[in-house]
Amino acid sequence: MRMSEFREKVLSRLRPSVRGCWIWTGAANHQGYGSVRFTWHGRRRSADPARLMLENALGRRLRQGECALRKCGDPRCANPKHLRAGTRLDMHEAMHTAGTRASTVGSKNGNARLSGCDVRRILVMLAGGAWTRRAVARSFGVSLSTVDAIANGRLWSHIPRTARRRGGRS
Ligand SMILES: [Zn+2]
Repeated sequence: MRMSEFREKVLSRLRPSVRGCWIWTGAANHQGYGSVRFTWHGRRRSADPARLMLENALGRRLRQGECALRKCGDPRCANPKHLRAGTRLDMHEAMHTAGTRASTVGSKNGNARLSGCDVRRILVMLAGGAWTRRAVARSFGVSLSTVDAIANGRLWSHIPRTARRRGGRS
């Protein structure tokens, strides 16, 4: 994407929020992530504006398997200060975990469709406190029990979690 196209198609569609996020106001996919359409070497492509912003800030393309992780947890945010490059899990490991654990949760909820990046996003969103588990489930198109299982560490337990926010004292 050329710089002029980047400014026109990405930067012009970002709006600041009170939390310091740069909210994408353009098209979004069904999961709530932004989607920019552009032409690259004669081919129609689309990308997450956050990924483009992060690549622009880093001065390099993200490698295969890397994704733009949002520290603020807002899927529409493309503020490079809220973004960092993270590595996608090995696909085989991810599918193995989803496949072997799904039966213990006991619902046909399509866990395998969640990537390691998705699960990290879910964990960040939950830790941020702005998203309820129900809202996260709706946003990712999975069941509430799946989000519960991720939050409780019964699914995707190999992905490191931030400390529980419940202080433990009762
Ligand atoms: Zn943000």
